[in-house]
Amino acid sequence: MVPGETVLMGPPGSGKGTQARLLADAHGWVQLATGDLFRDHQRRGTALGRLAGERMAKGAYVPDEITVGMVRERLAEIPPGTRVVFDGFPRTVPQAKALDGLLAECGRHLHRVVLFEVAGDPLLDRLAGRVTCASCQAVYAARVRPPRVAGVCDRCGGALASSARPDDSPEVVLKRLDVYEEQTRPVIAHYEATGLLRRIDGVGPVDEVTERVREALS
Ligand code: AMP
Repeated sequence: MVPGETVLMGPPGSGKGTQARLLADAHGWVQLATGDLFRDHQRRGTALGRLAGERMAKGAYVPDEITVGMVRERLAEIPPGTRVVFDGFPRTVPQAKALDGLLAECGRHLHRVVLFEVAGDPLLDRLAGRVTCASCQAVYAARVRPPRVAGVCDRCGGALASSARPDDSPEVVLKRLDVYEEQTRPVIAHYEATGLLRRIDGVGPVDEVTERVREALS
């Protein structure tokens, strides 16, 4: 069993959300995805949800203090013995520095950071043709990661529908990629210096990427 918490990092559309969910399902871990938490606030119409919605619609990040506060609240709800896989957090160097304190507050520590490497173009294709399983939320993409049978989920046989995320429009996707380069790329160097970072090839069938993640965590 992994002796600490896991962070999955990578550009938007690199498949880290899919792998975070698979890890959570396979091991009984909790997937802590800040994008999902913001979307949940948005659905519930909270003040935080309104603010996050404005930022997300532009492809910009939500301010660090707000994001860190939300993660602290979520972490406090998770039983101490349950492992956490962070998906989409930390995304800035201040968030990465804050994470150590957040984990220490609840008696946890970081075990590994797995970086999904995906070259520029496939990423845009992947975001553009993204379809999601209505039953198990597995994500596929027309060219890079198609399902074996069109419209049918490989994992559970559920129906695939185009993912309706408003921040998947081409302009917002380009902005999200720029923001990633500017604000999140420096987080890689931060974790490289700690020795916790492992790089994996994020391109390929879901089960092959899952195997690479497993090796990176062992
Ligand atoms: P995601 O679902 O991870 O692609 O996140 C969707 C959007 O939520 C991002 O484009 C940001 O606007 C916001 N977001 C998610 N995680 C963070 C974070 N760690 N820091 C700041 N903003 C975030």
